[in-house]
Amino acid sequence: MKRQGMLAVVSGFSGAGKGTVMKALLEKYDNYALSISATTRAPRPGEQDGREYFFMTDGQFEELIQNDRLIEHARYVNHYYGTPRSYVESKMAEGKDVILEIEIQGALNVKRQYPDAILIFVVPPTAAELKRRLVSRGTETEEVIASRLKRALEESEEMESYDYILVNDTVDQCVEELHHLIQSQHLKAGNS
Ligand code: 5GP
Repeated sequence: MKRQGMLAVVSGFSGAGKGTVMKALLEKYDNYALSISATTRAPRPGEQDGREYFFMTDGQFEELIQNDRLIEHARYVNHYYGTPRSYVESKMAEGKDVILEIEIQGALNVKRQYPDAILIFVVPPTAAELKRRLVSRGTETEEVIASRLKRALEESEEMESYDYILVNDTVDQCVEELHHLIQSQHLKAGNS
């Protein structure tokens, strides 16, 4: 019998390099599926609807909430973000481990509903490196960068709720550690 997939929640400061790590993980291993969230924030240059996010209005998002179409949702720096239920549940049933790249309120909400889910927090090697990565992305205004750095400080107090903290020094090392942590969680959860 095929084993049921698991949920792996990956959070981290905006600018910690999670996106790059997720992409590399999915390219290297085929047992993962990445959930695509819904959001009310505007697309950044280069982002496509249905690829990075499902971009929508507040009204459309609220309809998803009312119809119980989201596993969880949260507000982050003035916008809604949420995880669509149907994709996650069907991929887990297929045996894929589903990665949710979401912030802390969502992570804790997922853990309440799926106690076997593994919660991993990715941090950059230093605070200076975090700022450098945020600025070099070049897609956000100074004001947005400042509010995201402020939020990162608040989040660092919340990291203790996570199962693991992973330092993103190099992408390859981070991918390997992530893969190892998630596969070990299967053994712990008794569904190897
Ligand atoms: P960004 O605007 O930089 O893409 O994302 C901002 C924050 O929202 C990040 O911490 C990201 O992980 C989080 N996020 C993205 N999608 C979701 C979601 O579906 N639910 C929750 N709770 N957070 C999300």
